[in-house]
Amino acid sequence: MDDIRDVLIIGGGHAGMSAALTTYRALLKTVIFDTQRPRNRWNTQIRLTATWDAKPLSVNRMASRDELAKTGFVEFVDTAIHSISKTDDGLFRASDAAGRTWLGRKVLLAMGCSTSFPQIPGYENQFAKRIYPCMFQFGFEERGAQSAGLLAVDGLASASMAAALADDGHRFSHNFTIYTNGDATLASDLGETVTAYGIKVDDRKIRELHADEGGKGIVIDFSDGSSETEAFLVHRPTTVNDSPLIRQLGLDMTPTGDIATSMPFCQTSMPGVFAAGDCASMAKIIPQAMAMGAYAGCGIARELPRRVTGNPCT
Ligand SMILES: Cc1cc2nc3c(=O)[nH]c(=O)nc-3n(C[C@H](O)[C@H](O)[C@H](O)COP(=O)(O)OP(=O)(O)OC[C@H]3O[C@@H](n4cnc5c(N)ncnc54)[C@H](O)[C@@H]3O)c2cc1C
Repeated sequence: MDDIRDVLIIGGGHAGMSAALTTYRALLKTVIFDTQRPRNRWNTQIRLTATWDAKPLSVNRMASRDELAKTGFVEFVDTAIHSISKTDDGLFRASDAAGRTWLGRKVLLAMGCSTSFPQIPGYENQFAKRIYPCMFQFGFEERGAQSAGLLAVDGLASASMAAALADDGHRFSHNFTIYTNGDATLASDLGETVTAYGIKVDDRKIRELHADEGGKGIVIDFSDGSSETEAFLVHRPTTVNDSPLIRQLGLDMTPTGDIATSMPFCQTSMPGVFAAGDCASMAKIIPQAMAMGAYAGCGIARELPRRVTGNPCT
């Protein structure tokens, strides 16, 4: 039974590694599968995370891996898990992209989520450079900007969402405009709420987004041939939980499309399967992923039999 791992963690980001930091302290043999494609694949500086402020994400991930590898209880396998199922004897069988099969007593899904960008030419190229998903992460360095804006499209195409995030962005710039990309109804709804706060609304149809010549701003080209330049644009793209593993395990989801878990230990609707981080939370930030991972690690340990001696992987 030596080839049965105590815990199979799928996803080696903040949630998965935080969970392993807990499971090793309970003497559990843990394997982390990771395709190394974190949600923040732009590797921007970390914010909102104590002791890591302004450090690149990749440095944090490497430090965390080193820390875990040294314990002797955690093994990293840098490949994708393609399928997973529960066996008749209550174990979990996972198959990886290299065709290997892994058996585990418990599973933690910590695989993050995908991002779906608006269909506006140039958007993806400017994302995380001049288009910011969260002003608490990106705003401070932009403070005092002359003019900035918000794209009220996709998940932000509602007056309440656009107004809330515009307020976040307006904090950092003297002038602020909400661009509705041709949605006149939304522009009219917004006009009543936001103009009182000095925010303008613009309903011209956007043709393309691109960097300005100095690289310090973003240019919005409109279909009518006009254009505007802003220091930055606020927009949070839609996140999607599209991993086939969720369907294979038949997990319950929340109304907002995340894996449903019970608090605090992050059990899913399938006994023995836990989920933490962006795939299982509406709040998609590092501290939340780490906290959920730590709790899931405790919950997993408590569901497994007592260990008296360690049995390191190495
Ligand atoms: C541009 C940007 C900047 C951000 N900046 C900040 C910030 O400054 N501060 C902050 O708190 N939050 C920030 N965030 C949010 C933060 O990145 C996420 O909340 C955090 O990464 C969630 O951690 P996670 O472990 O749940 O998922 P991830 O970090 O996305 O890790 C999931 C891991 O699972 C792997 N994986 C997925 N599927 C499989 C599979 N089938 N098999 C094997 N491996 C798999 C992936 O390759 C990935 O490495 C930012 C997000 C973006 C988009």
